[in-house]
Amino acid sequence: MQVNWRQIHAARNSYAALHAACELSGYTFNLVEHPEAEVTCYSLNSLNESYYRDEIAKAGCITIVGGPHATACPREVAEYADYVIIGEGEYTLPRLLEEIERGGTGTIAGVATCDHYTPARSSVRLDAYPAFSEKQGFVEISRGCPFSCGYCQTPQIFGHCMRHRSIDTIAEFSNRYEHARFVSPNAFAYGSDGIHPRWEKIETLFKSLRNQIFFGTFPSEVRPEFICKESLDLVNRYCTNTKLHFGAQSGSDDVLEQLHRGHTVEDVIHAVELCTESGITPVVDFIVGFPFESDEEQLATVNLIQQVARSGKVHVHRFIPLPGTSLAGTTARPLLKQTEKACGKLALAGKITGSWSEPAVRFFRPPSNDIP
Ligand code: SF4
Repeated sequence: MQVNWRQIHAARNSYAALHAACELSGYTFNLVEHPEAEVTCYSLNSLNESYYRDEIAKAGCITIVGGPHATACPREVAEYADYVIIGEGEYTLPRLLEEIERGGTGTIAGVATCDHYTPARSSVRLDAYPAFSEKQGFVEISRGCPFSCGYCQTPQIFGHCMRHRSIDTIAEFSNRYEHARFVSPNAFAYGSDGIHPRWEKIETLFKSLRNQIFFGTFPSEVRPEFICKESLDLVNRYCTNTKLHFGAQSGSDDVLEQLHRGHTVEDVIHAVELCTESGITPVVDFIVGFPFESDEEQLATVNLIQQVARSGKVHVHRFIPLPGTSLAGTTARPLLKQTEKACGKLALAGKITGSWSEPAVRFFRPPSNDIP
């Protein structure tokens, strides 16, 4: 059976991981730029989904859609796709392909159709699947997140229990290349329950790697309260990166509490100071326009952005109410003139980047920019 994977830039790491997982069951993906017989698979997020909807609805082949949007809105996606994979795909997608090849109905756990859905009964054990095969991807070292930030889809897709790939398996894949880059909801939580760090596990991991290590920077950002003397010493001792990327999100403790971020503004300031003292550049994410954010709270965020920008870099993004999150269905509040002005000034000075006016820019690049 010919199985195709629709090339979408935002889904390149899902491609690398699922290609490797499906190979174990004898299926190899053919990369395509439009749907082709017999089966074409898509991984969609909530910002690019509307772009591909018509293409999938009109496809003259069997279509399978997974990814964050499919997991958040399976019923909606099942209206135009033949099969929707909800949650993790490593186990479910090969089972579904086998079922399709057998001519079955596709009623297997973890898959929704327009008239049927059986929830998945288990979670994927990362070590059971290769991180990638001939198409290099970032090595996913951890999955799941114990936090519940109101704007984030990650725990909805992967659950609240953190799972980790073993050090031996990480080393096996990472050491094949000159650079080691990782995927994690919080790289400094590697080996832990996601709340109580285990620095000895991270040091053991670093000692097993023989190449240039990039840790705590894209795509393995960290949380601010995990930035401390131990974590900074580890980065300075073993890693190539001279930046650490973490989320602050707001300059207001009330907003952070409503978001269930699980840290304070003081944690962010402390993390920035510690990074600077250690010779590491902090790269800090902020979100503006939360629906419950008052004028004063938005200005507190602007103040913190200005403060961080003195010693580090800032990424600012406009709030997007993603489906499947606790803030789904809400509307971003408008930005104050002072916010636009302050962000514009810092952007001109090269201190901040982002998309505070155009939220979709952050996630969605048109297909002409797609790379495999
Ligand atoms: S934003 Fe990060 S810490 Fe918060 S729920 Fe998502 S992955 Fe977890």
